[in-house]
Amino acid sequence: MSSRPKTKYAVPVAIRLTLWYAGIFTISSLLAFSIFYFSIAKIIYDRTDEDMLEDVQELSVLLEEEGYRALKREFKEEAESDGADEIFFRLIGRDGTTRFSTDLTGWPNLASPEKIVSSLAKGEPPAIETTNFPNREYATRIVTGNLVDDHILQIGQSFKEDDEFLEIFRSIFSVTLPIIMVIAGLFGWFMARKALQGVREVTAAAIDISEGDLSRRVHETGRGDEIDLLANTFNTMLDRIQTLITSMQDMTDNIAHDLRNPLTRIRGIAETSLLNTPSADDFKFVIGNTIEECDRLLHMINTMLDITETESGTGSLPADPIDLCAIVDDACDLFQPLAEDKNINFSCSCEKPAIVQGNKQQLQRMLGNLIDNALKYTGENGKVKVRLFHQEAMIVLDIADSGIGIDKNDIDSIFKRFYRCDASRTKTGSGLGLSLVQAIVKAHKGEIGVTSESKKGSNFRVTLPAYNK
Ligand code: ADP
Repeated sequence: MSSRPKTKYAVPVAIRLTLWYAGIFTISSLLAFSIFYFSIAKIIYDRTDEDMLEDVQELSVLLEEEGYRALKREFKEEAESDGADEIFFRLIGRDGTTRFSTDLTGWPNLASPEKIVSSLAKGEPPAIETTNFPNREYATRIVTGNLVDDHILQIGQSFKEDDEFLEIFRSIFSVTLPIIMVIAGLFGWFMARKALQGVREVTAAAIDISEGDLSRRVHETGRGDEIDLLANTFNTMLDRIQTLITSMQDMTDNIAHDLRNPLTRIRGIAETSLLNTPSADDFKFVIGNTIEECDRLLHMINTMLDITETESGTGSLPADPIDLCAIVDDACDLFQPLAEDKNINFSCSCEKPAIVQGNKQQLQRMLGNLIDNALKYTGENGKVKVRLFHQEAMIVLDIADSGIGIDKNDIDSIFKRFYRCDASRTKTGSGLGLSLVQAIVKAHKGEIGVTSESKKGSNFRVTLPAYNK
């Protein structure tokens, strides 16, 4: 027996799904945080710029209205309230020299903004730049703009407050990210396990079945999702397999039973003739009986093979157009003497043309079996009527008899192999004829049905698609 190779280090689907889930969730969180973080940073930095530009305007008005003293006082007050290390103010002349400023020791090497001065002189808007000083942890935002009276104002504001605020954000996220990852992992694990629950159940059922429990089924939730569909398909497949195995077991039992009877009979006759002193006539009798039983066995085996062959050949129907009327006529001629022997009123009618696509020999056997049964199970002076007629795109073959009929408890079983109704046990037969008929009808894409009343008669109806060129 071949066994499927196992992957040595296969990662279970649940773990893979969990990793995917946690990964995607973490990346999404990172992305969301980055967008949020950069938006906030932009807003904060923009606001700092706006505040500084507003200051330039206010201080310009102050200089104009109240003079240098007031401006100096304002510089001092602002620097004290923000902290001398966080902000500086500088008043510059058109020549680039500093007129007065707040304490600039925190900003050593603060360059003289000559370039900016000259561009401001041309009436350009205030210049805003970010400068890093070697002794300072945070960068400084510097605004340089025109004041009245040919003066230029420079305001430098440390990014300390803004950056500290953003740092709090970063540290909150760096703490929450691992927590998010763990929660995402746990949630992913829970979801994956839940999603795979159905698959696990199917696997467990498959293992039980492989160990011999064919009655095992997977629980269907009725939610109609993919897993439910899988469970449903799996259960349907199991139902079919179970039916198949049961019918195979039944068939094996039946074959054993039906083969054993003729073999026992052959052995019995041979044994009895050996016990006595057999005469030449006894030998003839034994040989004759043996041949008869062997023929019966051979017929049974051949019919079984024919049924299997016909069933397996479904779908590969020969394209030959067959004239069913001709087959009905031939069969009626063939069975007429038998009907006359039993004084049965045997009639055949055919609505021409009745052409079907298929195998002539098989169609002959189908009709032969049905007529044979009708005559066999109809008593003397009875009636058997064969009719062939059209019904839309179908051709209907109707065989009605006034025979022993079929009990309603048997009617569903008569097409099973080896099935014989009790009422017909007195007649010869193998219980295989109708199985073959059904296989042939199915192979010709047709249908067979039966209606019957016990002791009144039966009506077998075969419907076949009419030949379409
Ligand atoms: P058999 O060789 O026994 O006739 P079939 O497969 O042809 O086997 O038929 C199965 C059983 O169906 C028969 O044994 C018989 O009991 C019943 N049957 C079939 N045809 C008729 C019929 N026309 N009238 C009554 N019973 C029938």
